[in-house]
Amino acid sequence: MLWVVGLMIVGIVGFILMLATLIGALVSMMARAGRALIGLPGGPSPRTCGRCRHVNAAHARYCAQCGQALGAERETTDVHG
Ligand SMILES: [Zn+2]
Repeated sequence: MLWVVGLMIVGIVGFILMLATLIGALVSMMARAGRALIGLPGGPSPRTCGRCRHVNAAHARYCAQCGQALGAERETTDVHG
């Protein structure tokens, strides 16, 4: 009768290993979805005006309050002289 117990143990261990693989795949998928939902660091964030401290949209190029160029230090690369 020992072989029956051996077969059962092998079957149960195989089943558990299969479950662990499935759960691992699910957890990795959920982690990716959660990060996408929360928002990755470096994503679009509100732009605060340096002059009047007005909070503008992430895609705004100029302040809606005072017209100050947002992120001008990077975009205006024109050389004088
Ligand atoms: Zn402003």
